[in-house]
Parts: sequence; C-alpha cells; structure tokens
Amino acid sequence: MRKLSIGSRLTLWYLAIFTAAELFFGVGMWLVLRQDLYGIADDALTAQVEDVASFLKSQKKKNMTVDKLREEASEAYVLEHSGDFLQIYDADGNWLFRASSLVQNQVEALTPAATKRPSFTNIQLGSKPFRFVTQRIEVNGRAYTVQTGVPADQIIATLSRFRRYLLMLAPLVLFAAASGGYWLSRKALRPVDAITRTARSIGGGNLGDRVEKLTTGDELQRLSDTLNEMLKRIEGAFLRVTQFTADASHELRTPISLIRTEAEIALRKSRGNEEYREALRHVLLEAEKTSTLVEELLTLARTDSGRESLHLTLLDLCSAIGETANEWRQLVESRNLQFRQAIANSDLAVLADRRAIQRLLAILLDNAVKYTPPPGVVELRLEGRDDKAVITVRDSGIGIIEQDQARIFERFYRADKARSRALGGDGIGLAIADWIVQQHRGSIAVQSSIGNGSSFVVELPLQPAPAVLDLAQANTLLDCSVNAPEKPCI
Ligand code: ADP
Repeated sequence: MRKLSIGSRLTLWYLAIFTAAELFFGVGMWLVLRQDLYGIADDALTAQVEDVASFLKSQKKKNMTVDKLREEASEAYVLEHSGDFLQIYDADGNWLFRASSLVQNQVEALTPAATKRPSFTNIQLGSKPFRFVTQRIEVNGRAYTVQTGVPADQIIATLSRFRRYLLMLAPLVLFAAASGGYWLSRKALRPVDAITRTARSIGGGNLGDRVEKLTTGDELQRLSDTLNEMLKRIEGAFLRVTQFTADASHELRTPISLIRTEAEIALRKSRGNEEYREALRHVLLEAEKTSTLVEELLTLARTDSGRESLHLTLLDLCSAIGETANEWRQLVESRNLQFRQAIANSDLAVLADRRAIQRLLAILLDNAVKYTPPPGVVELRLEGRDDKAVITVRDSGIGIIEQDQARIFERFYRADKARSRALGGDGIGLAIADWIVQQHRGSIAVQSSIGNGSSFVVELPLQPAPAVLDLAQANTLLDCSVNAPEKPCI
C-alpha cells in the first residue's frame, strides 16, 4: 500500500487533534452548563424545602392533629405556585399535603431513612421532565419528609440546543481545521518539494548544481545547507576520481607506448640475437616500471575507497628504522653516495604499522637517492622530541624550488617531469607517504633549497608506554655515519 505523503499525514494529525480537542471542549462545556442549570434549579428546590420547614415551624399550637395540620398545609399551598409539585408526610406515613399532579402521576413517597440529606432526582411526569428534591426535616420535635419539584423542560431544552449547536459547528470547525492544516503543511513543505525536484535532477553531468539556498533560519535551511555541503563533497570526490582516472591513464600511456615502440622497432627487420636480447631487456625494464606504477595506482585507489587499512600496533621505532637503515646502506653506497644514520638509542614507541613505516622510509630514501647526484650524502635520523618521534630523511641533492615544495605531496605532481621520469619516478610516492603519515596521526613536511638538498621531516605521536625510556635518554642521539661502528645504533 502506498504511504500517505507527509502533507496528508500532517493534515490527518491536525484533524485528529482538533477533533479530540473539540470533543473534550464540547463535552466539558456541556457538563459545566448542565451542572450550572441544575444547580439553579436545585437552589430553588432547597429554598422551597426551607419554606416548608418555616411553615411547619409556624404551626406551634400544642396537640395539633394531623388533620388540622393537613388543613393548614392545604390552605398554604393549594393555590401557591410552590405547592404545584409538593408533597409532605410525617414519620408515621401520614400525608400532610400532596399536590394533585403528583397524585395523578402516582409519585410515591421515598423512605425517610434515605432522605437525611437533600437528594435530587430527575423524574418524568407524564411527558414532562422534572427536577425533584426529597429531604427529611425535623420541626418542633417531629420528622417530616418534604418532596417538591420544578419543571426541567427549560434546562433540557437549553442543553439540547447547546448540543445541537455544537454538533452543527463541529463539522465546520473540523473542515476549517483540516483545510488550514493542509494549507499550512503544503506551505511548510513547498521548499522540500523544490529541494527534491532539484536533487532529483542532479546527476554526474551537473554535479555543480545546488539545491535552492533557503534563508528561513529553520530546519529546512539546515536541510538545504546540509544537502549543498554534501553535494559539494560528492562533487569534490567525483572530480578527484575523474582526475585520478585521467592521470592514471596518462601515466600508463607512456610506458605502454614505449614497450610498443621498442617491440615494433625490433620487429621491423630481422636482427641478430644480441639486438633482440637488448630490445627485450628494454621491454622488460619498462614492463617492470609499469607493474610498479600499477601497484602504486592500486594502493591509491584502495586508500580512496577506504579498503587500504593499516594494522597499528605498538612499535619500537628505533629498531624498525635501524633495520631499514641497514637495508638501505648498501644500496646508497652502491650509488657512490655517503649514508649516515643517527638513531636515538632508546625505545621510541609509536602506534604504527611496521610495513607502512618501512614503505614510507623507502619512498623518502628512494627519492633522496634518485635526486642526489654523487658524490653526495643521504642521512636518516630518528629522535624523540617532546611527545613526538621525529624521523628525518636528508639529502644533499638537487633541492626543490619553493613553489614545488607545496605541491610535491599531490598525486602525479613532479617538480621536474623529464628528470623524474628518466629516474623512474611517477609522482605518486610522496602522495602515498602523506597518506601513511596521516593514518598514523602524524605530519610530514619538507625543507629544501636548490643545490643544497632537501630534508623530509616526519613527526609521529609517541605512545606513553612503559617501554618508553626517560626523555633525556631518548633524546641522546648516536651518530652512526658510515664510518661509525654498526652498534650501538639499535
Ligand atoms: P617521483 O616518483 O616522481 O619521485 P614522488 O611523489 O616521490 O614522485 O615525488 C614528487 C616529486 O617531488 C618528484 O617528482 C621530485 O620532483 C620531487 N622530489 C621528491 N623528493 C625529492 C628530493 N629528495 N629531492 C628533490 N626533489 C624531490
């Protein structure tokens, strides 16, 4: 079953609440009116009983017989209005007065025991409604029961008129309430319709469009602002993906066309074995580069989709970086560069993924080696500073100009495209390094000047673990340059 729209549901709620309120108000008013009207009648009846009491009190003659009293009562009440529906009888059940209307309608006397306090009842005499009081009174040492009534037709007519008006007005009021509710809900929800229409029309081709900006200062404005912020984020993400795809395709095109050209040239004429081997070596080299590039592109894609997750554990940086230093020393030296290491001789515990940290160092050291012509120096340092572990990879290479320093962490950005490509660079390494550092809640920065080399400084938050030695000790650095003995670096 199709669900009702919010507008219709609001209207129904409005209607239900109004109906309940009207019912409550109507019934309440009717009860109050009824109570008031009967209250007025009851006051009149009480006054009549008091009148009878004073009449009986005035009959003071000693030894007055019932017959005499009956005579006096007839004289007093037969022609009186107040006697029209009156009957009086004593404790022995002798009638003192009985209005003819009551005799005709055979209104029986109530038992005196039940009438200690005035008791009011509604009685039908013939076709007419009446309000009656029955009360036992004690006069001159004798008990009498007085019963008297007044017509209640006016009261009932007023009450039924009131009820009629209520029933007549109720549908009108409810109709007005429903129409008002519908109009109000339509008015309140009109901006939502507009937002829905725009949101529905937004797709990949017009992600730059925004829903109408409301200035109502209420929930609807918050909704439109939130939607626009969300659209902005989606647009950003969409543009990044599109850009990534374009950049990735562009990066892949070069090595693939190099492989193709190499193969085409080799096949153009028949050649000797050595020439074929040389061509295949080139093809293999480019294929390896392409594999590395594809690996890195996959890493980036996984980081974007949130599927590349790190496994952070308490890691002793000193030993992890010492290991890396040992692995890299040989490679650096094989390029005729001097390798220096200065690693704090203490436990610097960080929450880190060991493999990711090694990858980060590999990216920075690889760059240092790539962009430092021999004879130069590549240095790896680790120290504890306040509540941070600081890793520095410094080189004495070509340096980076200031404008490029701000952009080298962007994907596919290369300060010198030709040189980077020639050295096997693809402009992705530092973007991955940046992501790794961010995942460790750290920071990475570069200081560099042309001709004087570059320093990449990574800061990672230290863990307050028992494994961490006192800071003074942690800050003690041991210079472990190439000529220094292997130990006690780690
Ligand atoms: P690439 O694979 O091209 O080296 P990276 O993302 O690692 O990509 O680095 C981006 C760019 O930053 C490099 O192309 C290079 O221009 C510059 N760069 C990075 N490290 C250094 C460095 N140690 N010395 C000089 N330039 C560097």
